[in-house]
Parts: sequence; structure tokens; C-alpha cells
Amino acid sequence: MKKIDILGVLVDHVTMDDALFSLKEFLKEEKAHAVFTPNSEIIMVAHKDAEFCKTLNSGDLIVADGIGVVYASKILKAPLPERVAGFDLSSKLIEAVSDGSRSLYFFGGKPGVAELAIRNLTEKYPALSVCGFSDGYFDEAKEQQIIEDIKAKKPDILFVCLGAPKQEKWIAEHKDELGAKLLLGVGGSLDVWAGTVERAPEKYQKAGLEWFYRLLKQPSRFFRMMALPKFGLTVLFKGKRVKKGNRS
Ligand code: UDP
Repeated sequence: MKKIDILGVLVDHVTMDDALFSLKEFLKEEKAHAVFTPNSEIIMVAHKDAEFCKTLNSGDLIVADGIGVVYASKILKAPLPERVAGFDLSSKLIEAVSDGSRSLYFFGGKPGVAELAIRNLTEKYPALSVCGFSDGYFDEAKEQQIIEDIKAKKPDILFVCLGAPKQEKWIAEHKDELGAKLLLGVGGSLDVWAGTVERAPEKYQKAGLEWFYRLLKQPSRFFRMMALPKFGLTVLFKGKRVKKGNRS
């Protein structure tokens, strides 16, 4: 699969349909596969932290969660086909297994959020096979219990929603001991399925302004979002360096 280097993070050159196809293929294999969904903020973290960058690049599928990543690929003259938001990809995956053919485990979010998400999803898809859940706030002892619970239930699909970079590090550290086939680091998705956080209306998404809507709804994200202009400038600067070095 073709990969696009965005400040060291190797993002897969895939459409939403390609990504969903890959997930279904991963499910046919016995080995564990990790799926990461970086946005510009996460790529900036990886740009400054080589170890985390390596962790991200160890993923079997890395999709461009944010529109900023797609813009960056255009600046670098290696355009990604489209944004593949982790929430949308995960929702399509759930729909694809809504006949109960694959088991799901939801890990993350504040206490009570996974239960709400599961209630909403099973209301929509009554045959959905949910084998377990846990909230995402734990000490060492509770983490061990969560690991044992996942191992006992051996889910086909494990959603890990601890926020970045915690979820990517957790997946990379534990993926081979859990017996899950597909592990997806998809941040606040549980909150959206639960209905505790609202997704931006489609017109914002289509205009590439979902980040702006989130900022309006959660002004506390302002300082995190300051990474965005910095990201654009860094890509511009790096883009020039790539040209000078004659890399394509
Ligand atoms: N979260 C968690 N454990 C933690 C920290 C965060 O389960 O130790 C959850 C938090 O409750 C939220 C999710 O991680 O549901 C994602 O948080 P945020 O929106 O900050 O992350 P993003 O998706 O923007 O990376």
C-alpha cells in the first residue's frame, strides 16, 4: 500500500472504502492488526517524539483523521485521496458486522460512557455482538483486570478510546497478548456513539471545518488546537526541504 510521509508519519494513501476493505481483510487473519487515526495534533506530537512516531508507524493501517492532514499532503505534492475520520470508519465497520458475525469490545471513556454507547448501538443494530466493555480510567491493578477480561473474551474487534497518544501506546504495547484481531485507536468515538459529545453537522464536515465546530463547543481545546497553525508552517517548511533533497 502506498504511504505518504507527513512529518515522519507514514499515512496510508486510502479512501474510506479502501480502508474499510483493509479492515475486513485484517479480520480474516489470526494475527492482531493495529489501526491508528492521526490528526494534525497527533502528527505534531509524533514529529517531536521519535519514539511515539515509531509507535504510530508500527500500525497496520494509518488513516488521515483530520482535514489538516489531507491539506498537508497537498502542500507536499503527494495528495491523499480524502479524509478518513476514525469515527466514520469505525461506524462503517460496526455496520458491516451488525449481523453479529464479529464480536466487539469497547474500551475507554469515562465510567458509564461505554454502556451508553453500547445501548445506542444495539438499539440501532439489534444483532450486534458486543462481548465486553471497560471505562478508560485505571490504575495498574485495574488495567491488569481489563487485560484479563479482554483475553477471556477474545473479541474480534477492540475499540481503544483513551485519547492520543495514550491509546496508540497502549495498543502497541498490548496488541499481541490480547487475542483481538483488530485494535482501533479511535479517541472520542465512544463519546459520540454514547451521545455525550455531538459530532459536527455535515455542512461543517464537508467544508473541512469540523475542528472549528469542536472549538466552538469545547473552547477548552483552544490550546491543543494551537498546534494546527504550527503544523501548517512545519509542513510548509518541511515541504521545501523535501524538494531540495530531491525526494518525491
Ligand atoms: N480517556 C480515557 N482515559 C484517559 C484519558 C482519556 O478513557 O486516561 C478518554 C476520554 O474520556 C475521551 C477519549 O479518551 O472519551 C478521547 O478524549 P479526547 O477527545 O481528548 O481525545 P481525541 O479523540 O481528541 O484524541
